[in-house]
Amino acid sequence: MKKIVIIGNGITGITAAREIRKRSEYDITVISGESHHHFSRPALMYIYMGHMRAEHTKPYEDWFWDKNRISLRYGTVTKIDFTTKAVLLESGESIAYDKLILATGSKSNKFGWKGQDLKGVQGLYSLQDVEMMEENTKHLANGRGSAVVVGGGLIGIEVAEMLHSRHIPVTFLVRENIYWGNILPEEEGKLVERHIRAQGIDLRLSSELQEITSDSNGRARSVITKNGEELNAQFVALTAGVSPNTDLVKGTDVEVKRGILVNEFLETNLPDVYAAGDCAELKISDGTSKVEQLWYTGRMQAEALAKTICGNRTKYQRGIWFNSAKFFDIEYQTYGFVANKVRDGESHFYWEDASGTKSFRIVFQNASKVVTGVNTFGIRQRQAVWQRWIAEERKITDVLTDLGEANFDPEFYKQYEPEIISKFNQDYPESVVTLRRAKGLFSKLQVKFSPILTR
Ligand SMILES: Cc1cc2nc3c(=O)[nH]c(=O)nc-3n(C[C@H](O)[C@H](O)[C@H](O)COP(=O)(O)OP(=O)(O)OC[C@H]3O[C@@H](n4cnc5c(N)ncnc54)[C@H](O)[C@@H]3O)c2cc1C
Repeated sequence: MKKIVIIGNGITGITAAREIRKRSEYDITVISGESHHHFSRPALMYIYMGHMRAEHTKPYEDWFWDKNRISLRYGTVTKIDFTTKAVLLESGESIAYDKLILATGSKSNKFGWKGQDLKGVQGLYSLQDVEMMEENTKHLANGRGSAVVVGGGLIGIEVAEMLHSRHIPVTFLVRENIYWGNILPEEEGKLVERHIRAQGIDLRLSSELQEITSDSNGRARSVITKNGEELNAQFVALTAGVSPNTDLVKGTDVEVKRGILVNEFLETNLPDVYAAGDCAELKISDGTSKVEQLWYTGRMQAEALAKTICGNRTKYQRGIWFNSAKFFDIEYQTYGFVANKVRDGESHFYWEDASGTKSFRIVFQNASKVVTGVNTFGIRQRQAVWQRWIAEERKITDVLTDLGEANFDPEFYKQYEPEIISKFNQDYPESVVTLRRAKGLFSKLQVKFSPILTR
């Protein structure tokens, strides 16, 4: 029977194992040096905040693995012998494979900052990082010490929220002059900035880490910024992004760029060796390549790969881009492509509510009026509806007319569709759109289309 060995028990490795089991009787072994069982990495923050215990982050009961004949091994792989087709564990044990899946995830970035290895300085990626954070911050709760978070991405904001939940004063250093400005348009960046500051977080834009100073015990004492400011900090979170974990294959015959290079079938340059999820870098037909470091893309890559491994060679096709995140209390969703600046040939329609905590942006093509992307803050949308609308190349007027169909907020929440439509009609007076579908009900209202915006 074919032996499948998977290194990594994250969403990618585990999805691959489950999907291979659904399709085959292969012998499947999943190895992880991080945890005995698969857990939800995005849920890590809730362990620290006391909303969940570590065991609650396991999506499967412990009996699931035996029942599905998936062998879980806890241990670190130190070497792969691609000639004899075996992986070597730290314990000295060797495990043979016929097909090998590398699903080794990411590692937190460290850029060689002075003081980055002091006690009380860390990133947040693994279960061990949460345990370390617990240890590093337990004496700082309720204002007994201060923290600095370096790097304004999605992990940085989570760490700021985690520390804030323990009443540890947080200074948040963000290099860009707009929060997450390489992704978000200015209005949304400012919306998030206001919300972060409203929580009492000291957000510093255009501010970068220079060095971390030490006390006499080798613990973090302060952070010095490139602007020359010194900030008191007994805990420093380094959250300036993550990089594909390619440690195991560096210096081997496996091709690596930023991540482990794979084609659209998730095959590396070596036979019977595959890579997927955060650690993989996908070669694209136009000669470029990209790394996708998201939960759902790891799952989708693993689903395609399992088919290939089971004899049905299948390309990974991500389909319409989707992402979601939470900035303290504000939920963010994006579908399709929304650039941080308006690009040639497209228009952005933007609405924000009076409180400045909810917003809606639709990107559409000037010539065809086809919607190509949407950002929402504070209004929950239905993924299936937006993906369908974008795939069907719906026009902006059609989408706005049916906007209620996409609303996924609880029934008793205020509905903002009428305000959004009214703003659109003000911005585009040559077009008059009437909301046909409010949330949960179809109204019989007429829709008037303008000549330039109709289908
Ligand atoms: C705090 C946090 C919050 C996040 N929130 C979101 C979110 O809300 N939405 C979203 O889309 N994404 C989120 N992400 C990103 C998402 O978690 C990752 O994209 C996803 O977990 C990647 O899955 P993976 O299976 O490819 O790798 P991983 O989950 O990193 O799993 C790889 C596993 O391989 C193990 N491994 C590596 N090398 C070896 C070795 N040599 N031997 C043995 N084991 C090894 C690692 O220890 C790890 O357990 C978040 C990430 C973090 C850190």
